[in-house]
Amino acid sequence: MEVKEKCAVFGIYSDKPVFDQIYYGLYAMQHRGQESAGIATYTDKINLHRDMGLVSEVFKGKYLDGNVGIGHVRYSTTGESEVENSQPIVINYAKGSFAIAHNGNLVNSSELKSIMERRGGVFTTTTDTEIIAQLIAQEHLRTGNFIEGIKNAMNHFRGSYSITILKDDQIIAVRDPWAFRPLVFGRSDDTFVVASESCALDAIGAELIRDVKAGEILVIGNGMKSYWTRKERISHCMFEYVYFSRPDTIIDGVSIYKVRENLGGILYRKAPADADMVIAVPDSGITAAIGYSRASGIPYGEGLIKNRYFGRTFILPEQKDREKGVMIKLNPIKSEINDKRLVLVDDSIVRGTTIKRIIKLLRDFGASEVHVRITCPPIRHPCYYGIDMQTYKEFIAQEKSVEEIGKEIGADSLAYNSLDSLIEAIGLPREKLCLSCLNGDYAIKEEQMKLNV
Ligand code: SF4
Repeated sequence: MEVKEKCAVFGIYSDKPVFDQIYYGLYAMQHRGQESAGIATYTDKINLHRDMGLVSEVFKGKYLDGNVGIGHVRYSTTGESEVENSQPIVINYAKGSFAIAHNGNLVNSSELKSIMERRGGVFTTTTDTEIIAQLIAQEHLRTGNFIEGIKNAMNHFRGSYSITILKDDQIIAVRDPWAFRPLVFGRSDDTFVVASESCALDAIGAELIRDVKAGEILVIGNGMKSYWTRKERISHCMFEYVYFSRPDTIIDGVSIYKVRENLGGILYRKAPADADMVIAVPDSGITAAIGYSRASGIPYGEGLIKNRYFGRTFILPEQKDREKGVMIKLNPIKSEINDKRLVLVDDSIVRGTTIKRIIKLLRDFGASEVHVRITCPPIRHPCYYGIDMQTYKEFIAQEKSVEEIGKEIGADSLAYNSLDSLIEAIGLPREKLCLSCLNGDYAIKEEQMKLNV
């Protein structure tokens, strides 16, 4: 798998200090962003620490007091990779201050920024998160009510945003009306938590209660209250199920592990292969490979070992560096694969360079055949909603047929799941899923998206 998610958010309200829980919650969601990390807590003021690096690096020897707080891990898609762009960010304005953490991407951020600059707005970062924060502050000043300010601002936001806000001693969780990115709510006794993924709740012993709903503004302070914005077409990102979220996470009532196992099983029924062993591209293909193996009866084995300490392949920005990254990151086990006909399972092919190199490695180490099975249908269109694939030229499936791609990557055979198989495996109604990068049907219309391309 070659593309990356943008971020994860976290928020917690408790009667006890919350720093450790935010730390462990972010640590559980480190897979969603390894470039920077940050925590903001509230005592009688906002306490903030954020920096470039992994959670364990950024918070080594650090502690922030407070019983309420939010956190964030980041991988940049909009905005440069600099500490000023790390989150949470804190906004100070005439009615006080708040901290905000955002997962997603606004498609109309350039337009909003120009309008706000014309009104005298000054921006200190290059992220759309600051645009979100400043517009909320402006609307708070205009309406005199913070929640009304959020609701008004949401009327201007186009795109994906799962947000946590720390305002005085309250946390506020906001999910965009399309519900592109996940956001869940849980609790443990008198501690209330929101997080991008339920695995973060598990990490701190909180129970998953429910998803924050599309268009919901959930305020947690002295009591809990929900406010709502307008309705839009629900568009849960299918990639969260296929790749981004951790297999032990549950999103919108659906177990990610189960979806991936289903994807592998269906893939076998649609595209069987005569082989001796099923292996996965670790870690993204593992659960689906197990599903393929269970459905086919072909044994599952470990053919590739991942160097787990090589955490930042994606930071290497140039194509040649990405390719070098694959070699350092994965190594075949010769004794396992020598003279074997392999089924190699992965979640998706974007550029095709990674899988091509992996197939060559497997052959160099003795595999006699490599049959590639991909759980996600061919990706042909850009994502404008927070996933790092934004130009048509990135996609090998734009120009080549499945057969041509198979030849290009050096596979003995190549098969993908179909769109229908993907929907069947997820188990949600088709009309509630974002499938835009597969079929080009965007929930937010083209003119709006082009504003930010
Ligand atoms: S376009 Fe694709 S990656 Fe982007 S939100 Fe939709 S399904 Fe997810």
